[in-house]
Amino acid sequence: MSASIITDTDTAAQALRAGQLVAIPTETVYGLGANALDESAVLKIFTAKNRPSFDPLIIHQSTPERILAYASEISEEAFKLAEAFWPGPLTMVLPKHRSVPDMVVSGLPAVALRVPDHPVALELLSKVDFPVAAPSANPFGFVSPTTAQHVKDQLGERVDYILDGGPCRVGLESTIVAFPNGEATILRKGGLPIEQIEEILGHRLAVKTHSSSQPEAPGMLSKHYSPGNHLEIFERLEEDQPIPAGSARIVFGRGGKAISYDDKRLITTYDLSPNGELAQAAQQLFTFLRLMATHNYPFVAAELLPETGLGRAINDRLRRAAATE
Ligand code: AMP
Ligand code: MG
Repeated sequence: MSASIITDTDTAAQALRAGQLVAIPTETVYGLGANALDESAVLKIFTAKNRPSFDPLIIHQSTPERILAYASEISEEAFKLAEAFWPGPLTMVLPKHRSVPDMVVSGLPAVALRVPDHPVALELLSKVDFPVAAPSANPFGFVSPTTAQHVKDQLGERVDYILDGGPCRVGLESTIVAFPNGEATILRKGGLPIEQIEEILGHRLAVKTHSSSQPEAPGMLSKHYSPGNHLEIFERLEEDQPIPAGSARIVFGRGGKAISYDDKRLITTYDLSPNGELAQAAQQLFTFLRLMATHNYPFVAAELLPETGLGRAINDRLRRAAATE
């Protein structure tokens, strides 16, 4: 099997109804979609990604009303966030409705819900009468895809269709909020800056994003988003930082060109946003990490971004890409 890249949501909807796998565009990253209420379709997601069964899936629908139907209880704060940020790069973890199969939630009592902000995804979701489970469409542990071609390169043999909606606008996965003991808590830093959530709720949020294979912290593995190169993190990469010839540097906000080559030191520099814009850096990050893998650089030096807004999520991905266990 080799996936066809399509643009027609009727074909994609029909495939989902038939229990097939369809990669779908969202504003965050491309998702590997299947009917969340069909256990054999959901199993295909875990198999195609090589994803451990303890790592639960996010389910998607086209409106807040349609997706919140899969929660059994919705707190006031959850309603507020749904109103403020859906459609958008926010996932909320809420007590699950009994109609959601245990396989989707890895046996947990809660389910992760999202309304994506992408016209093609919304059109597709509005055509099916079930929620679509869709983790990032990459092999487990690797960098998430932000174009249809990225999906084709890595999972082309394992999905039925890839619905092309162009390059992802945000480029980072959704921010995940859960409400353990009723208290809004960040489980994953992502495409919605934490500061914006705090502004709506009127208080600071606890951040609990680490980091094991224990079921109580599913999916928050410290080693993730790995391009496979030896990657090291620096607070700031000075021009004269000694790194081996043939290496790559990932920097932020240095003016000049996005990609440049120093032929004296044989070092390639990738600037995530020459003008220092965090949104552009987020959008570029996974494309650049993929280039690290494609060029097979033996050493990659990456500098951290300002720890604010989207910079916090970008730094989180860089740290995980550099983690060795
Ligand atoms: P992905 O869709 O691959 O970006 O990953 C989805 C992530 O959402 C998982 O790895 C979990 O960390 C988180 N998640 C999904 N469902 C739940 C849940 N029921 N409880 C807690 N976290 C969840
Ligand atoms: Mg993922």
